Amino acid sequence: MPNTLSDKLLFLASNLYWTWHPEIIGVFRDIDPELWTQVNFSPVAFLRALPADEVDRRSLRLNLESRINFAYHRLVEYLDSDRTWARFHGGPLNARPVAYFSAEFGIHESLPIYSGGLGALAGDHLKSASDLGVPIVGVGLLYHQGYFRQVLDANGWQHEEYGFMPIDDLPLSPALDPAGRPVEVSIDLAGGSLGARVWRARVGRATLLMLDSDIPGNSAADRGLTARLYGGDRRIRIRQEVILGFGGLRALRACGFDPGIFHLNEGHSAFVTLERMRERMELDGLSFEDAQREVALRTVFTTHTPVEAGHDRFAPDLAEEHLGWLTHRLGVSREQLLGLGRVHPGDHGEHFCMTVLALKLSRAANAVSAIHGHVSRRMWNRLFPGHTEREVPIGHITNGVHVGSWLSPSMTKVYERHVGERWAERLCHRDAWEGVAKISNLELWEAHLYEKHKLIEFVRHRLAEQEARRSPHDPSASARVARHLTRNALTIGFARRYATYKRATLLLHDIERLAKIVNHKDRPVQFVYAGKAHPQDEGGKRLIQQIVQLSRDPRFAGKVVFVEDYDLGVARHLVQGVDVWLNNPVKPLEACGTSGMKVMLNGGLNLSILDGWWAEGYDGSNGFAIGTVESHARPEVQEQRDSEELFRTLEEAVIPLYFRRNAEDVPEDWVRRMKNGITSMAWRFNSDRMVMDYVSLNYVPASGGQSARMP
Ligand SMILES: *Cc1c(COP(=O)(O)O)cnc(C)c1O
Repeated sequence: MPNTLSDKLLFLASNLYWTWHPEIIGVFRDIDPELWTQVNFSPVAFLRALPADEVDRRSLRLNLESRINFAYHRLVEYLDSDRTWARFHGGPLNARPVAYFSAEFGIHESLPIYSGGLGALAGDHLKSASDLGVPIVGVGLLYHQGYFRQVLDANGWQHEEYGFMPIDDLPLSPALDPAGRPVEVSIDLAGGSLGARVWRARVGRATLLMLDSDIPGNSAADRGLTARLYGGDRRIRIRQEVILGFGGLRALRACGFDPGIFHLNEGHSAFVTLERMRERMELDGLSFEDAQREVALRTVFTTHTPVEAGHDRFAPDLAEEHLGWLTHRLGVSREQLLGLGRVHPGDHGEHFCMTVLALKLSRAANAVSAIHGHVSRRMWNRLFPGHTEREVPIGHITNGVHVGSWLSPSMTKVYERHVGERWAERLCHRDAWEGVAKISNLELWEAHLYEKHKLIEFVRHRLAEQEARRSPHDPSASARVARHLTRNALTIGFARRYATYKRATLLLHDIERLAKIVNHKDRPVQFVYAGKAHPQDEGGKRLIQQIVQLSRDPRFAGKVVFVEDYDLGVARHLVQGVDVWLNNPVKPLEACGTSGMKVMLNGGLNLSILDGWWAEGYDGSNGFAIGTVESHARPEVQEQRDSEELFRTLEEAVIPLYFRRNAEDVPEDWVRRMKNGITSMAWRFNSDRMVMDYVSLNYVPASGGQSARMP
């Protein structure tokens, strides 16, 4: 039992719960704002840098005692409570937890083991499962160098930089077996064994295990396997996935977990199903076919993209090199085993596809929005001969976002005041959000403006840093950008991966028209762009370059800006402060999209193509739609139409509505739309609702072992 304030802070720092409780972060900052910046906002590093008695002395002197005690007792109660949603609705999950496998987890920017939406979703899934009391253990990889940091050169060209994650500054510790020894796992491949140690983090009530191949027993090359997320060739990729799947299950077992359900978040981790088949065959004497059926009964799979490149495929030789040991152990043929990853098992040249493996080895598969469900059923129809497209057993559970992580502090206060005390526990109830309609227009608008101003300050600061790095000998450069953006302009955000289908440059179809929009003297508009292109995606990098070059054009300087190195932290500022969030992908390639949900929670309005989640969320009064549901058969015609529609919607709907003000300078019709957005969508597109859906539609049925379908 911690006694001193510094002990209590140590306890708070040891659980990533602080990442969605700003009141904890505030305490650290207030103890020593300068040190807090120096240690890069890491509670662990902060407490290492400041002696415990000094922490105690300052906390008392600054009157922080009650805030520390409050946060401490809140976390203790959170961890001990057995009056959770899952206690009453989780049934068998309370006896055996869910194992949630993912190649990425986006919990906080200081733990860079994510690249984008998939990771953010996995992080939000763990946090909501924790809030709801769903017993869950995440399994992923610890990438020492994380995903790359984006740096743009003077020409606006993206370069990738890798640093080392300061593990000692993070609340990570070696995972221990029941006897208290650090866990190491190993897989015997033909070319020598592949081992990994295991790290553990606490995410509220949830546990996250992360495998790390940097151990002495591995070859030099294998020690670097888990260095980077998506940083290597096919061979590195399959070896990472061997560690995640085979090693992940062994890590769970070694730590004493006995999961009842296995959730594959995307196909990267699908090898875990083969390791479970091995267990059942070797330990329980099942046949190959029986093992396949039984493993599938307890496996659920979420597919995340209709884009072909998003589905891992490995050449037969590469697959055999990594799975050959299994055929020997199990006494099955190479083709039997590799057939599990093929649409046509008899086609010996067909590559081994992780999505196919996941589909064959799961009882329930789901896409991440209604449209994505249709697209996925069409895409995988070939795996289910004799089924029509509609009969393909892939359903959908639409994604959601974690309210505690994405809602700004000022909006949180406003909601708490008007929406009711136990609001945070009732996020999925429509009526819990009804109070938002009663918030005065002025109060909601002021809270939004405050966050918008914070965003502008943040962007100016980042732009100044970017300039200082690019032109270290020209201080006037960073002084110039420090005045970029203005507070009264309609501020439109666009931040996401720069994959070509997301069409970041759709507005650049008509530069003259765009110039008129941003330079309008009474109704100015400004754009904040951010996002990374995949290191090998030259096309994506060219899109970034075009936007950067536009931002240097005198007509657009200070009105179109690009913030480098998009991550969870940049995303938080953007979604909390923008007026409008723009999303204009090629339909139907946006599986779901979650950034727009984060914006909606904070009262920003979405301006989006009717794809992914927006096709489910938009009702005509809660944001803006670009174009119609149907698309033209020829992509270039559709692109022309979409760009025309986007301009038209901006000029005729978005801008006039934003600048129509009352006597207090409040855009009343706009604010009404903000409220409509929140009341009509917040209860549906949050990750508590998403996890509840997974529990009742997938996890609990799978725990009972009832067959949903014959694979
Ligand atoms: C939410 C989020 C995403 C996902 O956004 P999309 O709408 O799917 O593009 C990607 N990256 C970061 C850093 C995020 O926070």
